Amino acid sequence: MRKKIIAGNWKMNKSFEEGMALVTEISGMLKDEYNGSAEVVIIPPFTHINAISRMLADEKNMSTGAQNCSNHASGAYTGEVSAAMLQSVGAKYVITGHSERRQYFMEHNAWLAQKVNAVLSNKLIPIYCCGETLEEREANKHFDILETQISEGLFHLTEAQFAQVVIAYEPVWAIGTGKTATTAQAQEVHAFIRKLIHAKYGEAIAQNTTIQYGGSVKPENASELFSAADIDGALVGGAALQSRSFVDIVKAMR
Ligand code: PEP
Repeated sequence: MRKKIIAGNWKMNKSFEEGMALVTEISGMLKDEYNGSAEVVIIPPFTHINAISRMLADEKNMSTGAQNCSNHASGAYTGEVSAAMLQSVGAKYVITGHSERRQYFMEHNAWLAQKVNAVLSNKLIPIYCCGETLEEREANKHFDILETQISEGLFHLTEAQFAQVVIAYEPVWAIGTGKTATTAQAQEVHAFIRKLIHAKYGEAIAQNTTIQYGGSVKPENASELFSAADIDGALVGGAALQSRSFVDIVKAMR
């Protein structure tokens, strides 16, 4: 059985105090209301990771992560945060290649491949994001784009390394727009990604890779998305900023 993961990407939101209050609410509500097996990952700004990882230290199915890290190990890179630093404050996951990083910070696949290496070599788990723009989908180029993003960002890894990776399919046109891919559209892409993995790494790794969907996931559409055979959870943005909506999304994953 593949691991199911619901991750909340807070982006650049929540003061430290607000963040602590939100995690307290989420963990309390999950204790009372959720008995499923999904892992719940809180991905706050860097400044909150240490405190949140301490808060969640005794929670069996909750962990924390970072939204980005440097591709370098250490040195004169002002403003950067290394994977080793993230590991030292209790992060377990690191998002790599979120579309906002690709779009606003010019992160490209070769650069992301280096970040994935940095993450893995510090025993952290990359959540590697991929997804097409609306223009690319309308031109029917989405499968090519996804294949390029995945092969250039991940397919240099050995089997043992790739087996650690989580993938998030996030169509750019669905992020923060309120437009969700239909379950059929998402399932089609997830099955395509699994096929790419199968061709490169074989059946066992393909079947074991967690592929999350992201893009305007909310309580109203989560159950249907999670019913698809190849959708193994969600990377949630806007709806992760509020305890009720985030917990209701987690509860949709049985
Ligand atoms: C995201 O930021 O990864 C995301 C999917 O955002 P939203 O849920 O707000 O579309």
